[in-house]
Amino acid sequence: MSASAVAPAMAAAGAGRPRTLVCVPATARAPREMAAELAAAAAVGADVAELRLDRLAGFAPRRDLPVLLAEPRPLPALVTYRPKWEGGEYDGEDEPRFEALMLAMELGAEYVDIELKVADKFMKLLSGKKPESCKLIVSSHNYENTPSAEELGNLVAQIKATGADIVKIATTATEIVDVARMFQILIHCQEKQVPIIGLVMNDRGFISRVLCPKYGGYLTFGSLEKGKESAPAQPTAADLINLYNIRAIGPDTKVFGIIGKPVGHSKSPILHNEAFRSVGFNAVYVPFLVDDLAKFLSTYSSPDFAGFSCTIPHKEAAVRCCDEVDPIARDIGAVNTIVRRPDGKLVGYNTDYVGAISAIEDGIRESQPTDPSTSPLAGKLFVVIGAGGAGKALAYGAKEKGARVVIANRTFARAQELANLIGGPALTLAELENYHPEEGMILANTTAIGMHPNINETPLSKQALKSYAVVFDAVYTPKETRLLREAAECGATVVSGLEMFIRQAMGQFEHFTGMPVDDDKFRAIADSLDNPNIMKPRL
Ligand code: NAP
Repeated sequence: MSASAVAPAMAAAGAGRPRTLVCVPATARAPREMAAELAAAAAVGADVAELRLDRLAGFAPRRDLPVLLAEPRPLPALVTYRPKWEGGEYDGEDEPRFEALMLAMELGAEYVDIELKVADKFMKLLSGKKPESCKLIVSSHNYENTPSAEELGNLVAQIKATGADIVKIATTATEIVDVARMFQILIHCQEKQVPIIGLVMNDRGFISRVLCPKYGGYLTFGSLEKGKESAPAQPTAADLINLYNIRAIGPDTKVFGIIGKPVGHSKSPILHNEAFRSVGFNAVYVPFLVDDLAKFLSTYSSPDFAGFSCTIPHKEAAVRCCDEVDPIARDIGAVNTIVRRPDGKLVGYNTDYVGAISAIEDGIRESQPTDPSTSPLAGKLFVVIGAGGAGKALAYGAKEKGARVVIANRTFARAQELANLIGGPALTLAELENYHPEEGMILANTTAIGMHPNINETPLSKQALKSYAVVFDAVYTPKETRLLREAAECGATVVSGLEMFIRQAMGQFEHFTGMPVDDDKFRAIADSLDNPNIMKPRL
């Protein structure tokens, strides 16, 4: 296996293997609150709860452990008493810590975690007295980086040699490709039948937490709720179970996802995971926080990584990274969808273009009588604010439909460049304020202005909006932006970016699955996206 590329997950070896457990860390400061967290973890569907003894204020093992481990327990318990020198909060001698862990074993804890650095010392003290029912996890945490695959392999051997029942290695990602090495180690351990928890911390390591079931990881951690994480970028257990459908992830599960930076605001994981689930497609869709697109694609090059959505700032680089690019996407100069063909080649498409233009056309058709034989955009003056990926898609699409396209952009040189390509005039944002050459103009905002959390911002004054008959906003969080609200108040027909988002995602779904999209089903899923209480991936 090459050092960087991830091999396909081992389908055969994975057959009949135990499923990856979801473990909720209990991090309360008081024993009774921590016991309540165990019950809450059971209620969200977790398999195990980790009792972080080092978090307890004034912890007294003989008084508190019987409370925490009282039978019947809502969930099996993993007991951890992490010292400061390994990233925990315990700041004392090893002996009392070891005694507390041994007491936890006596009281029936199903798992006990001990750090590799002191594992031999602990084993000596234990001198074979570990109850059969208790599994010993020997753990190593690296808060700086992720070592080479060879070093990780050596670490596994070292941990195994202590007599561990389960190996735990947690490292830190400085870039998303670091996770590939952890996946290699998981595959290696699966071959050797070594139970391993292998996770990569930080937002760039996020996929390790969701995809470990594919590579046979023994357990993954999910917090009880946002703010109760025990490690950086830990998802909630509810997101692992409900949003990422982690129980259904196995060696054959295909991986899709959205490549971006930032990527945390995207609702694509919610939409695509639910859409996959609704048709029984064995796939998971994750956020990929990517710095270097070419490096990402060459690292995650196995057929398992089957397709990608692309967002800011990678849509233009994606044109160069694909082996083949659909002619429309090439003309636009932006790819928002990448599919890996069975021969391994990456093919790029642009579904933003159809999604946005059809949304605007239908918006106009619904609000005014139009000639069904031509596009309602034909002959209209179509003003695009922005000259990035979305701006290019809108400008190209409007031009294709016979509109006269004008580009306005913050960086005027970029407006000129796109305007020259399309064959229309370019404006500065200041000029746009007083631009009113004719009636019935259409405006499309393709900048991020007005996007959550900056919801009070708008790209054009309400006064200037009075010149437009139709206003579209590519921003879709929130659904009703300030731009759209003010445009509606001025009497314009408004079209939400959510409509573009749904339609471009429908196009992606068809590319990803090879199945026709069920419009009604997809829309029903998308409708739930506007619910503020909906689960959101957190990066
Ligand atoms: P992009 O390639 O990075 O382009 C961003 C554009 O916005 C550039 O023209 C940039 O101007 C301009 N811009 C950014 N911040 C600005 C500011 N503060 N003031 C004025 N102009 C600013 O991004 P993109 O992929 O085109 O995406 C743009 C927006 O469209 C994002 O909000 C994205 O979420 C949204 N979008 C929505 C959908 C959907 O389905 N609804 C699909 C795609 C994109 P400069 O050239 O001066 O930098």
